[in-house]
Amino acid sequence: MHNDTERVLLTEQEIAARVRQLGEEISRDYAGKEPLVVGILKGAVIFMADLVRCLSIPVRMDFMAVSSYGASSQSSGVVRILKDLEHNIGGMDVLLVEDIVDTGLTLNYLRENLLTRGPASLKICTLLDKPGRRRVNVPVDYNGFIIPDEFVVGYGLDYNGRYRHLRDIMILKREVYTAKED
Ligand code: 5GP
Repeated sequence: MHNDTERVLLTEQEIAARVRQLGEEISRDYAGKEPLVVGILKGAVIFMADLVRCLSIPVRMDFMAVSSYGASSQSSGVVRILKDLEHNIGGMDVLLVEDIVDTGLTLNYLRENLLTRGPASLKICTLLDKPGRRRVNVPVDYNGFIIPDEFVVGYGLDYNGRYRHLRDIMILKREVYTAKED
């Protein structure tokens, strides 16, 4: 186990099993359609790569990058688009894929922004949900795991750009992220 991590919250096997279930559910719901799957960089990349390969429907993929926490573990509430979509999503079925919903500020902003572009439909899929810290209510259509209010890393999720490559989702030791914020 990594030195900076407290314990494993979700194992690679648990994640893979849940991603398969989500893939089946999404494939059923979008039968006969070809949605545009939109991943939010960079946290959702690993989840999205696994998820699209568990789908039995054709999809197209696109990505957006938004500013989020930077080096801090607290949401600033300020969301800025750093990289926008390459597709014009007017009339398309869009599935937004996010790593984690915490306060909900990021997804709420993205959802409202994308809705102004006139998609045929817009649904949200998140791997993790921390409902304990929600500040805005965002409708989540597909949710992998509800998790406690801990700062997690691995499977795409980082702290300060690190730990994204870990196969399991782990709880980061509190001293790792509080030390730098004081
Ligand atoms: P929200 O706007 O919902 O507060 O935050 C969403 C973003 O915050 C996520 O996309 C992710 O980048 C970051 N985030 C929230 N909680 C965690 C966490 O426990 N671990 C990591 N690595 N990032 C988190």
